[in-house]
Amino acid sequence: MIEFEPTEDQRLMQDSIAQFAKATLAPRLREFERLRALPDDVLRAGHEIGLSLLTLPEACGGQGQGLVTSVLIEEELGSADAGAAFALSGPGALGTALLELGTEDQARSFLEDFSSSDDDAHTRFGAVAWSEPAPNKQREGFTTTAVKDGAGYVLTGKKAFVTNAPLARRFVVFAQVDETKGWGGIGAFVVEKDNPGLKIGKRHDTLGLDAAAFGEITLEGARVAEAARLHGGANDGDFTRATLRFFAKRALIVSARALGLSRFAFDIAREYCDTRVAFGKPIGHFQAVAFTLADRLMDVESARWLLWKAARAWDAGAREKDALKATAQAAAHALEVAMRTADDCVSLHGGSGFIRDLVAEKLMRDAKQIALACPTTEQLDQLAAALDVQAKLDPALVLPTPDTQAIFT
Ligand SMILES: Cc1cc2nc3c(=O)[nH]c(=O)nc-3n(C[C@H](O)[C@H](O)[C@H](O)COP(=O)(O)OP(=O)(O)OC[C@H]3O[C@@H](n4cnc5c(N)ncnc54)[C@H](O)[C@@H]3O)c2cc1C
Repeated sequence: MIEFEPTEDQRLMQDSIAQFAKATLAPRLREFERLRALPDDVLRAGHEIGLSLLTLPEACGGQGQGLVTSVLIEEELGSADAGAAFALSGPGALGTALLELGTEDQARSFLEDFSSSDDDAHTRFGAVAWSEPAPNKQREGFTTTAVKDGAGYVLTGKKAFVTNAPLARRFVVFAQVDETKGWGGIGAFVVEKDNPGLKIGKRHDTLGLDAAAFGEITLEGARVAEAARLHGGANDGDFTRATLRFFAKRALIVSARALGLSRFAFDIAREYCDTRVAFGKPIGHFQAVAFTLADRLMDVESARWLLWKAARAWDAGAREKDALKATAQAAAHALEVAMRTADDCVSLHGGSGFIRDLVAEKLMRDAKQIALACPTTEQLDQLAAALDVQAKLDPALVLPTPDTQAIFT
């Protein structure tokens, strides 16, 4: 039997987040865009319903919900405002990185303060930094280095495009530990915001997702203790596999937001085509328009089923390679669907599509940016292909370094 429908509990959870998204996010999306942030009352409301902690294990202060629940929730957030989905507070990618790359003790201790009952707990963000402003052309691996020094490491380098960089209280930073080993010599380290060697750089001016902050960080001899190094899970796990799991699970979250955006774009396009009359009938009754809408609906529904299937594979403990492949395929498809649907949404709105009185233009800008988030469609295609042909698994499959990737040429 083929079975990956959400359970009754998951549906209830989805409904309650849908209500929050419709009531609190959707009506204010242009306000968030202008502010380039979520106002305090929205962050507080999101924190109070436990949004950012739902999927963390109970031992880390969360509710232990799985990835199917995450995907359902993120679709709802994305269908209200994908920018807000990226801008809500909480550990975010930091949580996934700690769970995949760290030990249980590390995850517990570095995530503890996100679930505290302090009055300002809703203003806490986490971040993960892998991207660099320019790839390393001399050798494989990161330009940012982590050099062993006594009982710890010294990190030096520059990271870019980091979600929440200006807001985060704690980062997981990927760096090169052994320069002779290429992508086999990378590591990850927890760096606190108040580390004297960490400088928070400028916030990027972005194409879309304006409610969320993306920016640079610079590590100028940032010292961290041995306990801050994440070794790839419990008992010095396989760091490459842990890295791939981290990026795959992150891609699942991001592409579920893209699915929500696609649903939003499809719904408003269909409504417009039902009401805009030309030559005596709604434009949706002309075959070219009707076929476009039918294709986009097939896109949205196929993206949803592929994402559910991938999320279910992780939750059900499927073979890691099968779950990775299902995720890469699902996320690549969902990101492409978002761009196609938002693009058609703009086109079908005609002149209204490109003015800011309507939301269509924002959806297209947001869709383009989401598709570049992590990993990109090309990187996901590359991961899916590598798993399909059983090529050697390598972190470079999902990392942003085209100059030194040699997986497929
Ligand atoms: C919304 C958003 C959120 C982000 N959040 C974070 C974050 O939290 N932390 C962080 O560190 N970074 C983050 N990033 C950065 C993001 O991960 C990178 O931009 C992305 O991985 C692409 O890397 P790059 O910019 O270096 O592009 P490049 O690696 O220079 O790639 C350029 C283009 O080539 C394509 N490409 C790459 N390799 C191949 C290949 N082998 N075959 C064919 N095409 C290829 C890419 O898909 C891309 O289209 C974020 C970006 C966005 C837009």
